[in-house]
Amino acid sequence: MKVSKEIRQITPYSPGKPVAETKRELGLSVVHKLASNECPVGPSPKAVVAMKQALTELHRYPDPNCFELHGAMAQYLEVADDYLVFGNGSNELIDLLVRTFCEQGEEILTSKAAFLAYPLCAQAARVKTIEVPLTEDLRFDLSRMAEELDRDRVNNRIRLVFIANPNNPTGTCVSGKDFEVFMEVASKKKDLLVIVDEAYFEFVRTKDSFSTRSYLEKYENLLFLRTMSKVFGLAGLRLGVLVGRPELLNFINRVRNPFNVNSIAQAGAVAALGDREHLDRVCQVTWDGLDGFYLQLARMGLNYWESQGNFVLFDTKRDSRKVFQALLQQGVIMRPVINYGFPTQLRLSVGLEEENRAAMVALEKVLVEIPRTLS
Ligand SMILES: *Cc1c(COP(=O)(O)O)cnc(C)c1O
Repeated sequence: MKVSKEIRQITPYSPGKPVAETKRELGLSVVHKLASNECPVGPSPKAVVAMKQALTELHRYPDPNCFELHGAMAQYLEVADDYLVFGNGSNELIDLLVRTFCEQGEEILTSKAAFLAYPLCAQAARVKTIEVPLTEDLRFDLSRMAEELDRDRVNNRIRLVFIANPNNPTGTCVSGKDFEVFMEVASKKKDLLVIVDEAYFEFVRTKDSFSTRSYLEKYENLLFLRTMSKVFGLAGLRLGVLVGRPELLNFINRVRNPFNVNSIAQAGAVAALGDREHLDRVCQVTWDGLDGFYLQLARMGLNYWESQGNFVLFDTKRDSRKVFQALLQQGVIMRPVINYGFPTQLRLSVGLEEENRAAMVALEKVLVEIPRTLS
């Protein structure tokens, strides 16, 4: 079959190992999956009720304009109703951004070791990804990225910039000051959009970061992404939102499939957005879990990067594939990050208290059996 070089060269996204598969392969009865940054608490009970009610209307097509959801999300984000477009997860919105604003042979700019959806969506659209290395403390290097924009002044091929803040898999944030300096360059460039992916926004504890919302009036070419997959515990529902000026979102709406957000998702999200108590509880569970991990990792003499998300990246000081496999035998699924350029590190998502404890017990046990790599 005739298929383009770009499509042939795509390495499919490798998701966290499923629980059922792990149980089956290893003959285990108890498996804890702490590999996909999912919400261990589950969805809001109010969202579950709303979704059950929506089931009886499934013979109808969903509202293509997500009317109620627009209202609820606009209120939550404190933006105007027409500043929103919804997608089947933020992943679809990333795909739509590339397909809407980039032509074949044009480029997107992001960082190495950032969310893999950016380069994957680009490649599928025959768009090239420019990746600058992370800083030494594993943050997005915005000054290097500004240099890339500068360098592109001649060819003018870069259309989109993706900044994950906090970033996955590192858990790091960029500061508001660094972002402003970057935007001074990026906002002056013609035909360029900057998208900040705020999938983990609610979990951020550091004061040294920013909300893209507060810059929306100042920079015309700025947009941001949020998702219902993380703090709202609705990863299986597939719902993300892109926030920006209606003049820009209008183009996305031309490319978007009319019924891309199903009726269950619309009903569930509206109810979830109204349940602040649940959101606060998820944040507290996450922060307690992270603080517990930090203590245990430090006690085991392992370095970690303080995280603003619901996961932590840590250095096993060993071949991470071996640690990953040994942990599976113990019924704990963590996430190898070799494909992000981290050969000895693992990413560990926060789970419920007993899952976190099981993960730390298993880790301590397997580290004894695996030799440290020389570095
Ligand atoms: C988890 C995550 C998302 C969420 O993607 P969905 O398609 O909405 O589930 C987006 N961006 C980053 C950086 C993430 O880690």
